[in-house]
Amino acid sequence: MNHDSICDEDLIAYAMGEQCNGSTERIAAHIVACADCAATVQRLVTIRQVCITDDSIAPPPETRVRAYGMFRRTLRLINEEWMAAQCAVGSAA
Ligand SMILES: [Zn+2]
Repeated sequence: MNHDSICDEDLIAYAMGEQCNGSTERIAAHIVACADCAATVQRLVTIRQVCITDDSIAPPPETRVRAYGMFRRTLRLINEEWMAAQCAVGSAA
């Protein structure tokens, strides 16, 4: 399967339910035909679900800030206000 038209950021945004620069349909069609990308999306969805539902261990605020910095550099598609809000929630806890 040709992955040239699909980048990691596309798969991450798709798994997070974000708009993918207007290419949601293109990514959906790709993962139907590509087992590798479908597996990647499934892993990302699983990770997202764990992050949303597992509040048993809250990372320290500095870990959230560091993660925010890492993701901000690599994931331009994710809404920065949402990410900042996640860090604010962590530092308030
Ligand atoms: Zn693929």
